[in-house]
Amino acid sequence: MKRIMLLDGRLLDPRSKLDTDGNLLIESDRIVGLGRDLPVPADALKIDCHGLWVMPGLIDPHVHLRDPGFPEKETIRSGLRAAAAGGFTAVAAMANTAPVNDTPEITRYMLERAPAAEAARLVPVAAVTRGLRGRDLVDFPAMVQAGARMFSDDGLPLDDVGVLKQALEAAASAGFAVSLHEEDRALTVSGAMNAGAVAQALGVKGIPASAETERVGRDLAIARELGTPLHLAHVSTAGALDLITAARAAGVAVSCEVTPHHFILDDRTVLTCGADARMAPPLRSPLDRDRLRRGLADGSIDMIATDHAPHDPDSKQHSLLARHFPRSCAAAPLPDEAAHALATAANGIIGLETALGLALTLVHEGLITPLRLVELMSANPARLLRLDNLGTLAAGALADITVVDPKLEWTVNPEQFCSLSRNTPFAGWRLKGQAVLTIVAGRVVHDARRGSADAA
Ligand SMILES: [Zn+2]
Repeated sequence: MKRIMLLDGRLLDPRSKLDTDGNLLIESDRIVGLGRDLPVPADALKIDCHGLWVMPGLIDPHVHLRDPGFPEKETIRSGLRAAAAGGFTAVAAMANTAPVNDTPEITRYMLERAPAAEAARLVPVAAVTRGLRGRDLVDFPAMVQAGARMFSDDGLPLDDVGVLKQALEAAASAGFAVSLHEEDRALTVSGAMNAGAVAQALGVKGIPASAETERVGRDLAIARELGTPLHLAHVSTAGALDLITAARAAGVAVSCEVTPHHFILDDRTVLTCGADARMAPPLRSPLDRDRLRRGLADGSIDMIATDHAPHDPDSKQHSLLARHFPRSCAAAPLPDEAAHALATAANGIIGLETALGLALTLVHEGLITPLRLVELMSANPARLLRLDNLGTLAAGALADITVVDPKLEWTVNPEQFCSLSRNTPFAGWRLKGQAVLTIVAGRVVHDARRGSADAA
């Protein structure tokens, strides 16, 4: 039987509040033991983890793998390998593929392709409505039976409140969460970026915070009336987080996620990165960003999600925008053509290979503990997706493990990414901390010490 012994690492498991140095033994696809004095079997492959953190594998509740449909942006294979390289052992793949994941056939296509990547697990997210059209619900029980573990029309909001009610009730009886992209499109239409001084300086139409808060308020009220849970994707504003906190205090079973770009960057990044700083919801004000950071620290935010959104340069209007960015704050407004290009460039940035390094800045700054980081990036996403045997180091759990070197300094170089896309505002950033080993079901799927490889 194949055994791996992780020797003398810092074992971090929020589920049991464990934070102690020790060994961890993997046998086949399971964790079979851990502790300070765990004996080392003679036949085990020994991996020295002194100075490293050993944590349950990172789980991302929100990625776009673009497969089926857009192989020039990402494939299941490249996306899952990017995930493993970033320390993720499971990722929830959103339904806005082409065709949309609104039938069991597409869910099965995803699940059948995933193992060949020999990387992270793929957790399918089913659409809420057929074709993401916001009208007729998908067959919730059939999608669950095919393997879907969450429902979302992400990329688009559910505008029709009647459909939202049906969806929350169907999801509650299916036993899986609905993840909502909260946006009032009457308020975001033709907006290029966050409403504020930067949008004004660039002469582009802004997207107000109310486009998010107004919709979050409505949906929390509905969930409260129905008594159903709900999950809010990529929260970006202080106002939305205040509403969530109040609703939770009133007994609503609401969970929420934030992205690294929303808690690290603010709307000034558009000046330097142009369309690579454009996403929905947009990067917000420094005050919003600081509120999200407090929410990560005080427990009002449940988890971190990348919203990994690969795009090719054409979708990002690269040829039209490249000569206009970066620009200084005092620069004149964008010419009309460039303003239009920015407003119509595809939304989103990639995030799987930078998320951990960016989240670790919160630990290095003393804002959160390593245990809280694991809660935000593994234990809580596992609970959302009901992956009961993941998100923990408990004996008997599946051996999905991320080993992190918290001191390793590195420079973000998109040319070296496993992702097929390069749309990131973090190119050239120096980060401290990286996944050095990613293990899925007892198998090493990424080893930074020798590049992505099937090492064990
Ligand atoms: Zn979204």
